[in-house]
Amino acid sequence: MAHQHHKVIILGSGPAGLTAALYNARANLEPLVIEGAQPGGQLTITTEVENYPGYPDGIMGPDMMQDFRKQAEKFGTKFATGDVATVDTSKRPFRLETATTEYTCDALIISTGASAKLLGIESETRLMGFGVSACATCDGFFFKGKKVVVVGGGDSAMEEAAFLTKFASSVSIIHRREEFRASAIMLDRAKANDKIEFQLNKTILEIQGTADSGGVTGVTLQDTVTGEKNEFACDGVFMAIGHKPNTDLLVGQLELNAAGYIVTKADCTYTSVEGVFACGDVQDSVYRQAVTAAGSGCAAAIDAERWLEANH
Ligand code: NAP
Repeated sequence: MAHQHHKVIILGSGPAGLTAALYNARANLEPLVIEGAQPGGQLTITTEVENYPGYPDGIMGPDMMQDFRKQAEKFGTKFATGDVATVDTSKRPFRLETATTEYTCDALIISTGASAKLLGIESETRLMGFGVSACATCDGFFFKGKKVVVVGGGDSAMEEAAFLTKFASSVSIIHRREEFRASAIMLDRAKANDKIEFQLNKTILEIQGTADSGGVTGVTLQDTVTGEKNEFACDGVFMAIGHKPNTDLLVGQLELNAAGYIVTKADCTYTSVEGVFACGDVQDSVYRQAVTAAGSGCAAAIDAERWLEANH
């Protein structure tokens, strides 16, 4: 197995990780970013970003992440790909292992982000990729002229539904309540869209269809108020019910909260282990924005740099 030592390793390559890399690279720390399974993070599966300051005309998420990466690389950030199988923060240097390489580092910045949540029903797993998706940007194209449903009542559901109207003939938003978590502007836009309709107080009990005969054909809905069930014909089901922090590797290593997010100390990015810092969605269940992730990535880089100066 190959071995590499770095002063700083940054685990994850979304806005938080790449901003941390930019700052640490400009401080001559030659950081290594381990990119993970989804290089660029969640923004690579989003469409247009309208709320990142500095882009008055908006920018596509994947393009923005390419720019982040280029800027971090320009100042000497190194990149590695590969699934990290283990992280050991019990002693220094910290140790991370992929299938081929053992990495050690003096300071570790965790920016592994969060992943889409699923309903947890059997038919959803069986039909994933056969009409069930958690990413409209990735899969919307396959639903030209088709009827699709989007599950959820937050901004993600509104955004995915609006995006899907570019392809689908109709989009139904299935939400388990009558109130929405979505911001007023996103909800109003969805309501104003002729192709979008709402199925409120409804949950999906089952998704109909088989993988080898054309995929999804419909969903069985249940009314959350009356308990009544009904069949709803559709060709695609898009999950937009929120996210879960990517902290499975860190259980037992760092303090996590009840929802699995890394706990950071007040007003900084220090975790429960000295020399390990966390930034972005993996430690933020409140704001979860690209700009707040980038801001906390900057803070983590500065915290790591100062900690290294004092301790190495
Ligand atoms: P969210 O705000 O947590 O909303 C998740 C939605 O899914 C809620 O309506 C929730 O219903 C529903 N849900 C959760 N679990 C469910 C289940 N098992 N079955 C059925 N429904 C379920 O998540 P999000 O929409 O992904 O947004 C996350 C954050 O990102 C927010 O801060 C949001 O503002 C931000 N965001 C911003 C933009 C943008 O500005 N362009 C786009 C996307 C996301 P309940 O309401 O009943 O709990």
